[in-house]
Amino acid sequence: MIKENSLKIFNSLSGEKEDFVPIHKDHVGMYVCGPTVYSNVHLGNVRTFLSFDMIYRYLVHLGYNVRYVRNITDAGHLTDDGNVDNDRFVKQSRLEKLEPMEIVQKYTVDFHKVLEMFNALPPTIEPTATGHIVEQIELARQLIEDGLAYEVNGSVYFDVNEYNKRGLNYGELSRRNIEDLISNTRDLDGQGEKRNPVDFALWKNASPAHIMRWNSPWGAGFPGWHLECTVMSTKYLGETFDIHGGGMDLKFPHHECEIAQAKGAHGHEPVKYWMHANMLTMNGQRMSKSTGNYILPMQLISGNNDFFEKAFRPAVVRFCFLQAHYRSVLDISNDAMIASEKGLNRLMEGIRHLDALKPSNESTFDASKWLEECYAAMDDDFNTPILISQLFEAVRAINAAKTGSGSLTAADIETLKKSLKSFVFDVMGLKSEDETSGITDKIDGVMQMLIRMRNKARADKDWALSDQIRDELDAIGIQLKDGKDGTEYSLN
Ligand code: AMP
Ligand code: ZN
Repeated sequence: MIKENSLKIFNSLSGEKEDFVPIHKDHVGMYVCGPTVYSNVHLGNVRTFLSFDMIYRYLVHLGYNVRYVRNITDAGHLTDDGNVDNDRFVKQSRLEKLEPMEIVQKYTVDFHKVLEMFNALPPTIEPTATGHIVEQIELARQLIEDGLAYEVNGSVYFDVNEYNKRGLNYGELSRRNIEDLISNTRDLDGQGEKRNPVDFALWKNASPAHIMRWNSPWGAGFPGWHLECTVMSTKYLGETFDIHGGGMDLKFPHHECEIAQAKGAHGHEPVKYWMHANMLTMNGQRMSKSTGNYILPMQLISGNNDFFEKAFRPAVVRFCFLQAHYRSVLDISNDAMIASEKGLNRLMEGIRHLDALKPSNESTFDASKWLEECYAAMDDDFNTPILISQLFEAVRAINAAKTGSGSLTAADIETLKKSLKSFVFDVMGLKSEDETSGITDKIDGVMQMLIRMRNKARADKDWALSDQIRDELDAIGIQLKDGKDGTEYSLN
């Protein structure tokens, strides 16, 4: 049963947190702009995709039937709106001496591999721009027919002035005004063709040398970037759907143009809740390929990079991201990653201890109230940092029950077992339960063996060996603690 009206989502269109009411009861349609597959995704891109993975996971956890569409941009994303020589795929294919579609395949495979490594769930539909050329041509044709677009020299542009004359308000999402936009628009190649510098391309004419080209009523060409998302979201989710997401930097012009195309064609807003995930920064600067201030996911995981002291597991990266709210900027640093690693280990250790806990007749911890707080955090626009602080409250209660400074009833232990695991593994996607218990069980077996060998060494007064075992474990971050009930280990 889904609790009605408990989830609140910050809607970028209204600038407010709103009650989430899906268009069709119990169903959610969500579209997230996917990667432009002309090069490897950097860690910043990954943060945005993991933000929406967490959002998708929580909606599913609440019981919604989610249709999650995330596209692959495999054509048409120019580095600027005018110059055909700036086609990212064509440029990269020259550089790597590969066919453009080989570039697309290579980086689509890389993207999937990276997201799988971070335990992101696949979308339910993953359409490509090149698979929807026919629909894009059709939408451009319709907009020309409706008087909202015009053709010049085999290219088609959206007529922003005409759109505004009809009272449709270009700039409503990014709250930009048209005069400022005109004065800020650079003089780009192809702009001479436009009636107005803010008009944007729906279709671009391609020269014979341009390899990525398709036939259209206006001659050979290729689609503009904004058109694909309007066409694919409409096709799979309908003219109006619940959630549209992407990184903050896509608000303008990409999402603004999507709204204009859809409102122009269908006469109404396409999206109920616009969601924007904030940027990952490194050294205080936005992570981006073009400035060189970026790190690739594999460089962080392997430790092969100049920014971080050591390698980090994918789950640590994911945990670090979740420790910031998805709408806040997050600066990644060595210290932040070390702290996240410690935090995640403490959390996993708490879960491990939970399985071995002996129930008491009374509890010093109110697990039902705790559970309510967890949901309250997530229902408040997916507030993962507050959720994580609640999860640590639970870990504290578990540790107290373990050491005897607190206690938990069987019912509270059951609540914690079910919900703690469900938040950590299902909602935060930190690691599948099987994988964790599989690895944990094996590590635990090895640790028990080492502890037995050390006990034997101590009994034999072989202090050199017993110290060696303790010190070498310590060097890799595993501490042994001798207590009255024997020796325990911690992975901090
Ligand atoms: P692109 O492949 O360039 O279209 O980007 C894919 C996604 O990554 C988009 O949703 C961007 O908004 C997002 N993105 C780009 N740079 C960053 C960053 N530094 N931090 C977070 N998200 C980013
Ligand atoms: Zn898009």
